[in-house]
Amino acid sequence: DSTTPHLEIDDLHVYYGKAHALQGVSIDVDNGEIFGVIGPNGAGKTTMLNAIAGFLEYDGSIHYDGVDLATVSPRDIVTDGLVYCTEDRDLFPFFTVHENLQMGAQFRDDREAVEEDMRMVYDLFPRLDERRDQEAETMSGGEQQMLAIGRALMSDPDLLMLDEPTLGLAPIIIEDINDAIEKLNQEEGLTILLAEQNSTFALRHAERLALLETGSIELAGSAAEFQDNDYIREAYIGIH
Ligand code: ATP
Repeated sequence: DSTTPHLEIDDLHVYYGKAHALQGVSIDVDNGEIFGVIGPNGAGKTTMLNAIAGFLEYDGSIHYDGVDLATVSPRDIVTDGLVYCTEDRDLFPFFTVHENLQMGAQFRDDREAVEEDMRMVYDLFPRLDERRDQEAETMSGGEQQMLAIGRALMSDPDLLMLDEPTLGLAPIIIEDINDAIEKLNQEEGLTILLAEQNSTFALRHAERLALLETGSIELAGSAAEFQDNDYIREAYIGIH
């Protein structure tokens, strides 16, 4: 059922010591959609994704396909189809492109489907295909980002969380990432939770968005509502 929320975040609070980094965030991500979270540096986007992935303690609740993620280990969150591509990319620097992709499939035992997904990733990012035997650390920033997304895809996600996939990348590479996101959502039916400081990029993809500022959701709505909102236009559009 495409109207059932895939991911339901309710009244999420995260503290770092006394710092109240997330102050009651609630978001529902529907099956099949691209949901964008925008907001400035330090607003709490990464903290939110880290909490969902099971890396942080939190108050409030996070349900994925009806399951309370507080009861699920970070590894099982991945095998249940909720996969996180972090801002730092977390590649294995001395492993080749191909080995990094294989690492993405380490918890899977469906060998044939893994081979198919490997072909899908190489089709999606021909640059990776050309560089199968190159060590990850010697790749450009854009290529590393493609590899990080590719490795996440090798975990067979139903919902992919992407943190700042365009950060620091040249416009021409952003176009490649752009095309990949569109294809994954439209052709593979992948649900995507996209955290981006680059609001223009997020608005291009997301059907619905939330604006996060200093730990709180200040605005939530459709892409059209965001584009028409004076505050969003002034503060967030046109700066990239
Ligand atoms: P960015 O785009 O820079 O990653 P963000 O919106 O993802 O920004 P977070 O990284 O989630 O923001 O940070 C939210 C707030 O929590 C910031 O004030 C940050 O300094 C603080 N914070 C993040 N991680 C820690 C930590 N490990 N210890 C203490 N404070 C932290």
